[in-house]
Amino acid sequence: MTEKKLPDVNLLSLAKKVGTPFNIYDGKAIAENAKALYDAFSWVDGGFTDFFAVKALPNINILRLLASLGFGADCSSLPELILAKQAGIEPEKIVFTSNDTPDEEFKAAYDMGAILNLDDISHIDAVIRSCGRLPKTLCFRYNPGPERTGNAIIGNPVEAKYGLTKVQLVEAYKRAKSLGVETFGLHTMVASNELDPTYIVETARMIFSLVDLLYKEAGVRISFVDLGGGVGIPYRKSDDAISFSFLGSEIRKLYESMIVEKGYGPVKVTFEMGRAITGPFGYLVSTVRHVCRKYKDYVGLDACMADLMRPALYGAYHHITVLGKEDMAEDHVYDVTGSLCENNDKFAIDRSLPEIEEGDVLVIHDTGAHGHSMGFNYNAKLRHAEYLIGLDGRISRIRRNETFEDYVRTMLYDPEEVM
Ligand SMILES: *Cc1c(COP(=O)(O)O)cnc(C)c1O
Repeated sequence: MTEKKLPDVNLLSLAKKVGTPFNIYDGKAIAENAKALYDAFSWVDGGFTDFFAVKALPNINILRLLASLGFGADCSSLPELILAKQAGIEPEKIVFTSNDTPDEEFKAAYDMGAILNLDDISHIDAVIRSCGRLPKTLCFRYNPGPERTGNAIIGNPVEAKYGLTKVQLVEAYKRAKSLGVETFGLHTMVASNELDPTYIVETARMIFSLVDLLYKEAGVRISFVDLGGGVGIPYRKSDDAISFSFLGSEIRKLYESMIVEKGYGPVKVTFEMGRAITGPFGYLVSTVRHVCRKYKDYVGLDACMADLMRPALYGAYHHITVLGKEDMAEDHVYDVTGSLCENNDKFAIDRSLPEIEEGDVLVIHDTGAHGHSMGFNYNAKLRHAEYLIGLDGRISRIRRNETFEDYVRTMLYDPEEVM
């Protein structure tokens, strides 16, 4: 069970003051959560870093906050690399975990000094072609294929486009070593929104056993392991959050028996968690425009799928609180919708809520990761502002509302003839 909390600010007066919809992130809660994570892995003799997955919440102010809390960045495109750099994250704390990567992005990441994490054995040649040589530090992404079952969201590893097979992995490290690479990392990511901590612990076991295999079969010592992202969050009240201290202590046992006792230490342990870092600490605040009674009862919001795509995209559950009605009985059933001309544009279907009236302000929970960043402009819907509650409790705007001018910025009112 997880209690659905609201941030410690007056969201109703904020909504009145700045207008809705908007996303707001609780910086203080993010910092406390970060501390819990870093404390849970403070035992790692080789060091610990979470490379925050930038795609989860790509706002420079969030990245700056995370950088101050010890996070690095996991980037998969050039714009994400630039953002991470602008946020002041040191290059050694930026991992470029991309796939189907353009040569110029390998080059940019190399020039910046970021850690290249290669998704395919053929990318060794792509890096040489684009950068002239391999970097001193190199990481490869492992795909366990049939040796591991995926979870429901990420799917079966055999069907996943990512990573090298075990046979390729051995060959890739041998080749990288012969081409002058000195420091090696090993990455995998086989979970998405996983709430079973043993699944993550088993991923650590799988990776630590590869440290042994790669030493024996490829003659390389792994300096850091990257266990990827995919740690889930309790979107539903009935879900339990993964405890970082449980993860830390279980992974520690494996580290001691599989790394330290075998003489492979110290190895740095890293993750690329995004969702588990900021997800629960973001809220989409939106006002009810209309309550309509048809074959079903509909609550129409001023936010839409452009502000939060997860429910429409994967039927994801997001908890909803009606501000000021927290103590009322949830004795009405509604579909909570946006205004897109697209019937998928619903935040909730058949949701029990207190009786709702026009003008009510709703909070959609857990929008701090893969929320605003997944937004889009279909139906010329403009994306909305973001606010941050700072460590001092003050609220700042960290992204303004999009305007019509933003929307048409790339459109050429005067066509340019090209051929
Ligand atoms: C999306 C992604 C992450 C972050 O996933 P979360 O579910 O936000 O933890 C980390 N690494 C890679 C390679 C990803 O694609």
